[in-house]
Amino acid sequence: MAERSNPVADSRLFTDVYVCRNCKAKIRVSSQKLLRMNAVRCRRCGSKALRPKHREIKKLKV
Ligand SMILES: [Zn+2]
Repeated sequence: MAERSNPVADSRLFTDVYVCRNCKAKIRVSSQKLLRMNAVRCRRCGSKALRPKHREIKKLKV
């Protein structure tokens, strides 16, 4: 079980995962098309305000 930092797995884990800005629920988005069409909504609160999880981590630093 030595899965430390696999760049491929990491990018997959983060690029497909978005976080609802409203309730911070994690949402997996399978296709970027849906995102561009704003067709992705949070399951919990129905908000369309999502942000990539990857960015969220960067923002925490700032
Ligand atoms: Zn939400």
